[in-house]
Amino acid sequence: MTNQNLQHIINGKKVTGTSSTVFDIYNPSTGQKINKMQGASANDVRQAIDSADAAFEHWKKVPPSKRAQIMFNYRELLYKNVEELAELISIEHGKTLADAKGEVMRGVEVVEFCTAINSHLKSDYTADVSANIDSYNLRQPLGVCAGITPFNFPAMVPMWMYPVAIACGNTFVLKLSERDPSCALRLTELMSEAGLPDGVLNTVVGDKEAVDELLHNPKVAAISFVGSTSVGEYIYQEGCKHNKRVQALCGAKNHMIVMPDASLDQACEAILGAAYGSAGERCMAVSVVVAVGDEIADAMVKQLAPMVRALKVGAYDEEGVEMGPVITKQSQENILNYIEEGITQGATLVLDGRDHAKNEGFYVGGCIFDQVSDQMSIYTDEIFGPVLSIIRVSTYEQALALVNSHEYGNGATVFTRDGDTARHFTMNVEVGMAGVNVPIPVPVAMHSFGGWKRSLFGSSSIHGMEGVRFYTKLKTITSRWPSGIRKGAQFHFEGGKDAS
Ligand code: NAD
Repeated sequence: MTNQNLQHIINGKKVTGTSSTVFDIYNPSTGQKINKMQGASANDVRQAIDSADAAFEHWKKVPPSKRAQIMFNYRELLYKNVEELAELISIEHGKTLADAKGEVMRGVEVVEFCTAINSHLKSDYTADVSANIDSYNLRQPLGVCAGITPFNFPAMVPMWMYPVAIACGNTFVLKLSERDPSCALRLTELMSEAGLPDGVLNTVVGDKEAVDELLHNPKVAAISFVGSTSVGEYIYQEGCKHNKRVQALCGAKNHMIVMPDASLDQACEAILGAAYGSAGERCMAVSVVVAVGDEIADAMVKQLAPMVRALKVGAYDEEGVEMGPVITKQSQENILNYIEEGITQGATLVLDGRDHAKNEGFYVGGCIFDQVSDQMSIYTDEIFGPVLSIIRVSTYEQALALVNSHEYGNGATVFTRDGDTARHFTMNVEVGMAGVNVPIPVPVAMHSFGGWKRSLFGSSSIHGMEGVRFYTKLKTITSRWPSGIRKGAQFHFEGGKDAS
């Protein structure tokens, strides 16, 4: 055990939680317990909210260009510390160091977006909407915002939230996943080093008790959630009931349609990274391939199975490792149960990765199921592990109908050389993020990330300009100058040719 005695960060100070719950933190690569942390109680979270509320009075008045300067400093610190941050992710999450570094850099891109916050907050101004009357818009911060984040991107997902919220002039309470909190706690310290005043970013780790305080406390204006659909739906409904602005980004089952004209080499390489990278623990992982026609399906299975079998599975710091373990023993068991169900329900397990589960650590090797049907639980449910389902259909129309009938609508992609098919797909697929000949259509930081249907509750995607709009409220100002102009009392609206 490293026993660093992990603590929450409230008002710039490290504090020990007072909840009766103690979280054990594991190294999934070895299965060993490496740390523990006493959770934040409702009272601890209340203190974090109070400190954010107090800091807001000053922070909202700091000009955006000064806030941007802190983001520039932060970016430099993130670059300088990327190796340490990646190590903190990998040891608690299990993903490879290269993947962890990539995750940090995706977060850095959001910070880079925030360095231009004065430009993003630039307003519209219309002179002379009527005689001597001008109109303009302001986007003002909401107050205390909160973020509740999942285990699978312990750095990137928090960085989807707090940099944008803070750059917009809000203060923030970040509630991390209890499974791998170390990296984001370090990210919080680096914000202070970058010059962020105490209380603007407070970071806690807790369970439902902590989350419920965020949901019910009247000082919290907005909540961003990323995690599973069952929890996200609760957070959305409960947050809205308490008059908060809520965005809840949730679970997924991402499809890749492979058309008969696709480049098989390109498609197989794309599947390899998108289905098995990070052991399938990505909300944008491809977990279903829809093969159009038996010919391409047969060829794909033949080409893909040896590629997946050859993947080097192991600890995050082993030389040449390509896929690490899953996050917990419980998650490993859950995935193994799904594999059993797939077999029982009649799918063909063409590649069985269960041997890896015999090793120390929480491993599952890459699995491929062929001849999957849309009624099987390996297709309907989000497994969140390295298990790929192949569904065979005869036409593109059947493939699209299948994607569109799934309850989730996060991402989907098509591999084809035909422009008509590609355009029809992007225009008609019922997902928030669509791709053509790309494995995982994850939008970069200046665009916005978010799904449809049961993959997102609320109306707003995250980061990019959608993020700026989510973390600000619109004020429209109408003013008449010079002062002293009198028009007399008016009792009717003026519009069109009457307006003067
Ligand atoms: P999770 O829902 O278990 O946990 C997410 C957060 O909610 C954590 O902070 C956790 O402590 C908290 N939480 C858990 N149970 C709770 C409860 N009963 N009441 C209140 N809070 C609770 O999710 P996870 O297992 O950490 O992450 C994996 C899930 O996240 C997958 O479903 C994945 O698809 C999803 N995810 C979605 C996106 C997206 O952008 N759509 C991105 C990443 C992950």
